[in-house]
Amino acid sequence: MKGTPITEQLYDYIVGNFAQEDELLRRLPAEAEARGAPLIHISPEQGRFLQVLMKAAGTKRALEIGSLFGYSAIWLARALPEDGKLLALEKHPLHAQLTRENVARAGLSRKVDVREGNALELLAALDPREPFDFVFIDADKPGYVAYLEHALRLTRPGGIIVGDNASAAGNVWKADAAPDDEHIQAIHAFNQRMATDPRLLSILVPISDGMCVGVVLP
Ligand code: MG
Repeated sequence: MKGTPITEQLYDYIVGNFAQEDELLRRLPAEAEARGAPLIHISPEQGRFLQVLMKAAGTKRALEIGSLFGYSAIWLARALPEDGKLLALEKHPLHAQLTRENVARAGLSRKVDVREGNALELLAALDPREPFDFVFIDADKPGYVAYLEHALRLTRPGGIIVGDNASAAGNVWKADAAPDDEHIQAIHAFNQRMATDPRLLSILVPISDGMCVGVVLP
C-alpha cells in the first residue's frame, strides 16, 4: 500500500469537513432509484473535488457528458458564477427528465441546459468558437475516447477535462492481461490518451472509482 489508506473514519472526516450534502442531495439517490435509475452517481467528495477544479479554472461554461439523475449536475452548477452555464448531455429519456426535475428543485434551471440525445451527435453540433472551461465525462465507457476528442476540441487552453471511473473498480492496471474486457480496455484507452496527448497535463487521482484530470495546455 502506497500512501495513507482511506479508512471509514478518514473518509467520514473528509466528507464531514469538506463535502457535506444538503438535504436535497441526500434525498436524491433513493428517490431516483425508486423511479428506476441506477445508483452509479458520483460521491460527495468527488462533487466537491469537481467544484474545486471548476473554480481553479475560473469556470463560466461547463459541459457534462452523462448526467444520470442530476446529482453531479447540481454539484457542478453550484460552482458556477451567477452568469455561468452548464450544458448537461444525457441519452436516457428518464434520466434526462430526472436531471431536469432535480436541477429545478435545486433552483438551478436558469444555469443548466439539459440536452437529451446521443452524446456524440450532440457534441458534433457544438462550436469550438464558444469553448468550455470545464468538461466532465461520466457516460458509457466505450465512448470515452471519442468524448475526449470532442472535449479537446471544445475546451479552451487552461480549461480542465475530467473523466470519472478511471480506476475501473481498481482493475484498470490489469489492461494488458485482460484484452477481452471491454470496460477495462475502454477506460485504459481513455487514460492512455489523457496521459500522452501533448495538449494535456494529466493525472489519475484515486478518489472514489478514480478521476482522470487533465489541464488543457496553452
Ligand atoms: Mg461515474
